[in-house]
Amino acid sequence: MENFTGKEAEEIAFARELGVTKMNIVGFDQETIKKSLALSNQYNELYSTIGWHPTEAGSYTQEAEDMIVSHLHDPKVIALGEIGLDYHWMEDPKEVQMDVFKRQIQLSKDHDLPFVVHTRDALEDTYQVIKEAGLGPRGGIMHSYSGSLEMAQRFVDLGMTISFSGVVTFKKALDVQKAAQQLPLDKILVETDAPYLAPVPKRGRENRTAYTRYVVDKIAELRGLTTEEVAQATYDNAMRVFGLKE
Ligand SMILES: [Zn+2]
Repeated sequence: MENFTGKEAEEIAFARELGVTKMNIVGFDQETIKKSLALSNQYNELYSTIGWHPTEAGSYTQEAEDMIVSHLHDPKVIALGEIGLDYHWMEDPKEVQMDVFKRQIQLSKDHDLPFVVHTRDALEDTYQVIKEAGLGPRGGIMHSYSGSLEMAQRFVDLGMTISFSGVVTFKKALDVQKAAQQLPLDKILVETDAPYLAPVPKRGRENRTAYTRYVVDKIAELRGLTTEEVAQATYDNAMRVFGLKE
């Protein structure tokens, strides 16, 4: 067991101050999966999403898959991810990324978990892969969604839930704002993607989990709802999608 410094406890306490009570930590390769599991097993408020990130697709081996599978029954593991396609960094050929993506969608179905999708500059191919693979009863989540309302609607029609990060607070992100404003309220989630993508009014600084609050504020403003209404709805959605109990 690792020894944690107290930085984590401080982050959790700060998040709680801003109203964030449950947090999902992504482990996306060998080392971060270990760390995510250690943290979620140490702190009640934390949960783990584990999987092989598309930028790591080239190192996805049977051994890596066996390691992931060996942890999927850990009660703090609530989803398989981030999986998907990243054509921005293009660390590995599209075919390799697609294969690793498909294999892990299958794993999520075999283990009765939802999957969390990372997609960058690859929305259409991501859509096609998910459509062909088909969703299990637990569905999937589009993480840090940054496409149009129309595209989001297509993913929702497949059975996906759309998760918004700080991007929705950015002045020029009009497409994403339209999606956050108009998708059915029971199809949206909020996240930070910390330490990246800090929302306005913290943009440009290191992102913190607590700042999920500002994402909720922005969506409330867009939809003409109160922060509390959006907070409650996205909390309920997360509980349902990730299968969490109080
Ligand atoms: Zn991501």
